Amino acid sequence: MRLPWAALCLLLFPACLGVPSTEEHGVARSPGGRPPDYAIAIHGGAGSFPQQNDPVEREAYTASLRAALEAGVAILDGGGTSLDAVESVIRILEDDPLFNAGRGAVYTNDGRHELDASLMDGASLACGGVAGVTRVKNPISLARLVMERTPHVLLAGPGADQFAKLEGVDLVDQEYYHTERRLLQLQRRQDRERAVDREHGTVGAVALDRRGNLAAGTSTGGLTGKQHGRVGDSPLIGAGTFAKNATCAVSGTGTGEEFIRHGVARSISDHMEYGGLSLQAAADQVVLGTLEPGDGGIIAVSHAGELVLVFNTEGMARGAADSRGRFEVHFGD
Ligand code: ASP
Repeated sequence: MRLPWAALCLLLFPACLGVPSTEEHGVARSPGGRPPDYAIAIHGGAGSFPQQNDPVEREAYTASLRAALEAGVAILDGGGTSLDAVESVIRILEDDPLFNAGRGAVYTNDGRHELDASLMDGASLACGGVAGVTRVKNPISLARLVMERTPHVLLAGPGADQFAKLEGVDLVDQEYYHTERRLLQLQRRQDRERAVDREHGTVGAVALDRRGNLAAGTSTGGLTGKQHGRVGDSPLIGAGTFAKNATCAVSGTGTGEEFIRHGVARSISDHMEYGGLSLQAAADQVVLGTLEPGDGGIIAVSHAGELVLVFNTEGMARGAADSRGRFEVHFGD
């Protein structure tokens, strides 16, 4: 007996039923079907989320994530590049005092702010990063200038601040980064009043554009009370950020030292390229296998538009959208 084609399709490919995207154990899975023309994911850090129980705070964070994601979708939908979408989304989150990037960055152990960021173009493997900048309003845009206007990939400390001045980017005083919330976090940490969980707030974005090009970017103030001069994974290509058209674009958030040690972002791409794994399997392998529980999470998009958001912390602020109408943001678990 011959089964009608539609019945056969449903038997073999249950995704034909239009299964909605689901999340299990911090892993978001996209529905099957035709690959999207464009796709984007964002994060606002992984860690503990005491604010998720406060409806006002929860709504504020969710609204910010939604606005940033909408801005990214508008760029991609209008035919803009993945690089422009990633930079624009991250600038919005850097300007938002709720997040630990740009305005709202955490404090170092000596009561200052030192910011890190990086950006990568999956089409050319061009990339740029800045570490320990102290006067730059939007570190992600300075990272892009390092990529586009210098032969280098990473500028750090006073040299990076000086480059910012020469390039004429918006400069700010240290007070610009201040928020009461972050100062309190430093004081609590210094008082050892309680064991503070790693606060979330680093931001990142990954995107696939209509031309099939991938890009990734990450921006952070680092860890609360970090030693002056400490550099995390966010400005390091291969650790906190990586993009390659043949595989995927990844942005990470978590304990930077672990992300550097395991080369997290690059390792996910390598599992796809050399191990033949899907993006989901590669990300699961690294975040749920290699890293320890509590280390952090990643967002990623593959060359085929598969979106993956996975974390091993209590929660991760995140969002995902694509040309097929998916649009979702989550704050916390
Ligand atoms: N990964 C960042 C760092 O270690 C912090 C974070 O993502 O929360 O600097």
